[in-house]
Amino acid sequence: MAQIGFIGLGIMGKPMARNLVKAGHSLVVCDLSKDRVAELVADGAKAAESASDAASRSDVIITMLPDGPDVEKCVLGPGGVLEGARAGSIVVDMSSISPVVAQKVGAACAARGVAFVDAPVSGGEPKAIDGTLAIMCGGAQQDFDRVLPILQKMGATVTLTGAIGAGNVTKLANQIMVACNIAAMGEALVLATRAGLDPEVVFNAVKGGLAGSTVLNAKAPMVISGNFQPGFRINLHQKDLRNALQAAEAMKVDLPFTSKAQEILTALVNDGKGNLDHSAMVTHIEKKAGVEVRKRTAAKAG
Ligand code: NAD
Repeated sequence: MAQIGFIGLGIMGKPMARNLVKAGHSLVVCDLSKDRVAELVADGAKAAESASDAASRSDVIITMLPDGPDVEKCVLGPGGVLEGARAGSIVVDMSSISPVVAQKVGAACAARGVAFVDAPVSGGEPKAIDGTLAIMCGGAQQDFDRVLPILQKMGATVTLTGAIGAGNVTKLANQIMVACNIAAMGEALVLATRAGLDPEVVFNAVKGGLAGSTVLNAKAPMVISGNFQPGFRINLHQKDLRNALQAAEAMKVDLPFTSKAQEILTALVNDGKGNLDHSAMVTHIEKKAGVEVRKRTAAKAG
């Protein structure tokens, strides 16, 4: 089995790395947080001193970092992956970043004889833990084929959607759909609540029809119970829509609903709510309407 370097052990990276260890892979791990590294070492992984050290000891180097600048620093910067990576090794960046940055990092890897696949994921922490993520990849077919058995240990679906950068274009499309879904759910439940209905009853009435969705099933119960613990943080979703809008501008595509969703996410970040779950987009709509979408207590419903 390939020796794997895994860099970035946050909400997503930690359970993903754990699934690789459980599947019998030998892992060398690295994170800015020594505590997170220690947790994986307790599971059977080895600790690396730096990204470069992890890369020098691996055939396949996986990165799971917040955003494009983090990936550039970690792969291209001093002490980074490309300082240690051997020609013939492969970097799989599973972070959600701008497709343009993925292409830049891919080109820098190619110049050193290192292959590159961008492979962002969807499904959040629960699916990272279960190993059932949706993984969307960009890269050459032979590079995808080489890492497919590894990605299948972390995901239920692993799809090659095009050349390097295509994985992140697909992820941006995913994030547009999720943000607009949450915003539409918020408007719908605010309206129903203002009309005097119990939002939980409304949710149960519509979830089996055409408006039903994975987003609705995951996020409506959080909103109705007022639980906005992440999950997927507003800060990260704002970053994704920023990348989507930048890519759209470069391609001269207008995304009016995405722009509106980004306005809401940005207002929430500026309001100090960036670390809440993205379902808290609904609180912005609630505030403007002066109504809260919460389950009615028995007394009030009475
Ligand atoms: P996180 O902030 O929890 O974890 C990021 C980790 O990277 C941290 O542990 C940090 O210490 C580490 N890190 C940052 N720079 C580093 C460097 N130079 N070297 C080593 N380690 C470094 O983020 P997350 O929620 O795990 O998300 C990671 C990526 O996955 C993001 O791009 C995010 O958009 C995407 N994503 C997240 C979710 C989710 O539900 N959380 C779902 C799908 C996709």
